[in-house]
Amino acid sequence: MRTQVAIIGAGPSGLLLGQLLHKAGIDNIIVERQSGEYVLGRIRAGILEQITTDLLREVGVGERLDAEGTVHHSIELVFAGTRHAIDVHGLTDGKVVTAYGQTELTRDLMQARSAAALPTV
Ligand SMILES: Cc1cc2nc3c(=O)[nH]c(=O)nc-3n(C[C@H](O)[C@H](O)[C@H](O)COP(=O)(O)OP(=O)(O)OC[C@H]3O[C@@H](n4cnc5c(N)ncnc54)[C@H](O)[C@@H]3O)c2cc1C
Repeated sequence: MRTQVAIIGAGPSGLLLGQLLHKAGIDNIIVERQSGEYVLGRIRAGILEQITTDLLREVGVGERLDAEGTVHHSIELVFAGTRHAIDVHGLTDGKVVTAYGQTELTRDLMQARSAAALPTV
């Protein structure tokens, strides 16, 4: 097999990079050492910053995120039992964070990759 870019790892970074390269017309293959089920079974992130959600929409993977994600204008950090509200929206020129499971995001990216018939080994 010949390709232009080989990406190691089908986590969200590898999958998103694969979509970006595909949109730019650059052939790529992803090599992942675990099964797709294993990758989807890992429970991880849930909070996405706006730079991430903007990029996901740009590569055409924002539909379910927009339908099912929960937008938050602020977050809370807890130090020594006291809650501190961080006004993300006010402090970042109107940006927000979105709660959307990394598992779901990974599934959306995997489906987009498979719909475009891009190879993952
Ligand atoms: C409990 C937890 C909570 C988190 N919460 C958040 C959050 O709220 N918001 C947020 O933004 N981030 C959060 N994160 C961080 C987020 O999950 C990671 O930043 C993200 O998973 C990184 O994606 P990645 O694709 O770079 O790496 P990974 O998801 O680790 O994927 C790397 C992939 O590469 C594969 N791989 C590794 N080595 C090889 C090899 N040699 N050959 C083939 N395949 C290989 C692995 O099997 C894996 O599938 C959290 C992480 C954890 C653990």
